[in-house]
Amino acid sequence: MDMNSANIEEIVRQVLVDMRGGSSAGASAPVAAGNVPQKAHVAMLTKLKHFEIQEYPMPAIGDDDILVKVEGCGVCGTDAHEYVRDPFGLIPVVLGHEGTGEIVKMGKNVKKDSAGKPLKVGDKIVTSMSFHDDPDITMYDLNKQNVGAGDIYGLQPDDDIHLNGWFADYMVVRKGSSVFNVSDLDLDSRILIEPAAVLIHAVERAKTTNILRFNSRVVVQGCGPIGLLCIAVLRTMGIENIVAVDGNQKRLDFAKRMGAGATVNFNDFKGGIDDLAGGVKAAFGGYLADFAFQCTGSAVAHANVYHFIRTGGGLCELGFFVDGGPAQINPHFDLCSKEITLVGSWVYTLRDYATTFDFLKRALGIGLPIKELITHKFPLSQINEALETNLSQAGLKIAIVNE
Ligand SMILES: [Zn+2]
Repeated sequence: MDMNSANIEEIVRQVLVDMRGGSSAGASAPVAAGNVPQKAHVAMLTKLKHFEIQEYPMPAIGDDDILVKVEGCGVCGTDAHEYVRDPFGLIPVVLGHEGTGEIVKMGKNVKKDSAGKPLKVGDKIVTSMSFHDDPDITMYDLNKQNVGAGDIYGLQPDDDIHLNGWFADYMVVRKGSSVFNVSDLDLDSRILIEPAAVLIHAVERAKTTNILRFNSRVVVQGCGPIGLLCIAVLRTMGIENIVAVDGNQKRLDFAKRMGAGATVNFNDFKGGIDDLAGGVKAAFGGYLADFAFQCTGSAVAHANVYHFIRTGGGLCELGFFVDGGPAQINPHFDLCSKEITLVGSWVYTLRDYATTFDFLKRALGIGLPIKELITHKFPLSQINEALETNLSQAGLKIAIVNE
């Protein structure tokens, strides 16, 4: 679908703003009206494992559009998949969907964000999705499906505007996009919003089982950024009896700092799944878990996790964000005879997105080291290095941060 037809004949009209009295947080100075450069730069993935910084004329901004000066963007596993294999067939593409920046220009029809908060030049925003096929997805309907039907900036094919992803210095947010004013969050927190929303949604899905309760015994399997954020979300809702499972001791140590009461390194248990399950049970002081979050993309991990859960317990599977192939379980022993309640979780709803802003404030408020999840920051010019660092698993969350 052509999103740009509305823009093409638009004449750019400078929005006059009074920056005095503006409430925007963050370090970078607001761009005064008229200070938008003539050229924008994007990191275009032109072939596998190769980004090129490309320069384009600053596009005209239509009455329903927003021009954002990009401040930063997290590197996601999805970006890494695209970089290595292009499974979605998007090349050439400007990636980057975990981005945030400052409004430098707005069309005259833009007044409010998707939650009804006023928007003005100088505000800090994030985008969630843009909806072309399913305009019924709103954040006000509690029964709404996740936003998997929407398009996302940073995963759209290139077009004549080019500023379609957050791995850039400017991006154009077009009509039909979900936009949130997050001026009250600092840059690092804003970069973590999109991945954190995945966990807010997973925990909301888990709560539908009625098994997850105040201080339930909870296993979190997988301590990458998603598993660590899972622990943080659980901590902010009063669950402290958490055991983290992973094979990487550094990540397990971080899980403890995030609030896991105990950790289990699966490399310490060579005697098969019963041995490992015994390790989890011991970590809970002789009990199996009431509930488990499976946060890895590993088929073996999916099969293993059932063994950590008590009879009548629950499981949220969220690790298979992309197709990781089939996993083998024994339905009689793993599900039926134990009466396990299983929920799957994928992406988020728009309401989860808004909840995420409050989660981040609360996590900081109770002293969780949430911002330390961002272990590496690269300028846009080093985007290839940033992706390689993500692939090497040398850190946790890798981010592109513009000056
Ligand atoms: Zn992501």
